[in-house]
Amino acid sequence: MKAIILDGYVDEPALFGVPPFLSTYVRYAWGAYRHFGVEAEYRTIDQVRRENSWETLDSADHLVIIGGVSVPGKYAGGAPLSYSELTKIAAQCPNPLKILFGAFSYRDTDSATHQKTPSRPARASVKDPLKAIECVVTGNLETYLYGLLSGKNPPEDIGKDPEITEICALAGAGVVDRHPNFPNLICELEVSTGCERRSHCSFCSEPVFHPRFQSRDPEAILTEVAALGERGVKRFRLGRAANILAYGDRGEGPDPFALLRIYRGIRERVPDLRTLHTDNTNPQYIADHPVASAKILETISEYNTPGDILSFGVESFDEGVIRSNNLGTRVESIYEAIKLVNEIGGFRKEGIPALLPGINLIAGLIGETKRTFEKNFDALKMILEKGWLLRRINLRQVMVFPKTPLSAYRQTHFLPFHTREFRRFKEKVRTEIDRPMLERVFPVGTVIPDVITEYREGNNTFGRPLWTYGILIGIRSTLPIGKKVTISVTEYGFRSLTGELISVQEN
Ligand code: SF4
Repeated sequence: MKAIILDGYVDEPALFGVPPFLSTYVRYAWGAYRHFGVEAEYRTIDQVRRENSWETLDSADHLVIIGGVSVPGKYAGGAPLSYSELTKIAAQCPNPLKILFGAFSYRDTDSATHQKTPSRPARASVKDPLKAIECVVTGNLETYLYGLLSGKNPPEDIGKDPEITEICALAGAGVVDRHPNFPNLICELEVSTGCERRSHCSFCSEPVFHPRFQSRDPEAILTEVAALGERGVKRFRLGRAANILAYGDRGEGPDPFALLRIYRGIRERVPDLRTLHTDNTNPQYIADHPVASAKILETISEYNTPGDILSFGVESFDEGVIRSNNLGTRVESIYEAIKLVNEIGGFRKEGIPALLPGINLIAGLIGETKRTFEKNFDALKMILEKGWLLRRINLRQVMVFPKTPLSAYRQTHFLPFHTREFRRFKEKVRTEIDRPMLERVFPVGTVIPDVITEYREGNNTFGRPLWTYGILIGIRSTLPIGKKVTISVTEYGFRSLTGELISVQEN
């Protein structure tokens, strides 16, 4: 028996799998097959495109297709599987048992805005045009595969079995050197699932897929890290978590020792690691628990590598929008959290800030008015004027996920979208906030190592450091693609840097 794991890349609110990131989904799926002694091939969608090897996917007994983005962005490291490619694979591969997993966009014809609406593949949306796909997994992939390979007939919406996840996680570490980017890969680590809040934001899919907040067993995380380290992985992101600061919270607030154990343990198990970054947190959680949060922020800033970001799910600075969407925060709390992260994480390691906040804002939420954009801009301007640093500002349009309160709201209400105001707001943020912020975060002369060259335009080469939200850097030289270089910052774009080449590193 042979299985092919096709990595079509995922981009979800609490998981990223576009190169140079390698998601847990593909590692655990590969691990499920290897645990049962099944030959398993791993291919990325970019490899299949490059080699034009679509027909070889038909040679497997099982074809596991993982892909679809629910938080669409611009990707330099790889192009996620498209819907038409998925349809093509379904049509051209009649032989294998095809198992589909991952968020996938579909046209929501009920939508007032007719925007692309994301969803995990749902029977009504994806299965109809892709009738040839036998299994559309909407539950936990590794638990499903484990059941299937045990000779059972698991339901497609099967829940997660943590014991099975750990078996697959350990076996799945073996896939890393098959990735074309290896060893320049960042492995996403699962830290927790679900949200620690008791009631949830209108738009969020996390509580839909993970109704209960659950921190992963610390030994399991560290054992997986050790296994990945033994295979040559030196870059990690504690990214599969809705709120990293809530790790170990059993309903009584933050547990600073829980995350300390993880960070220390990772450093002990992979002492020569090159990247240790994280991703999401909730600013209100920081404001509600300032003392314990400060301790956790100290831990992260001490053990991480430079350039780390704590992404704040702010979503809006408009109190009306905050209330209407049950965001559960206050504007003052957001400022307190930004200030605290700056105070603790704003020092420089190797010339680069250790840990800074990032801000996510969403347009199109319930209660939004034209004034909302002014309030959001004024808040960002105030943050700039206060001298607090933000490492990045992410402006997105809301995506309506099935089964969320926002989806239910939209069944009975018109949800306007202020296209013109949103566009103007983005332009103003890019020119008046992003650029001066970049100049402060990365002053001229800042040295940035581990920049992987990704593409060329004219005589310029573009690359990004192996970081969380690696910033785009243009280098005024013609360099080979896939090289690792060190640069020194010379100029600024709106969301990018220009640098001069200092040296080419060993890959
Ligand atoms: S705080 Fe809101 S956006 Fe964040 S995980 Fe919880 S429900 Fe989702």
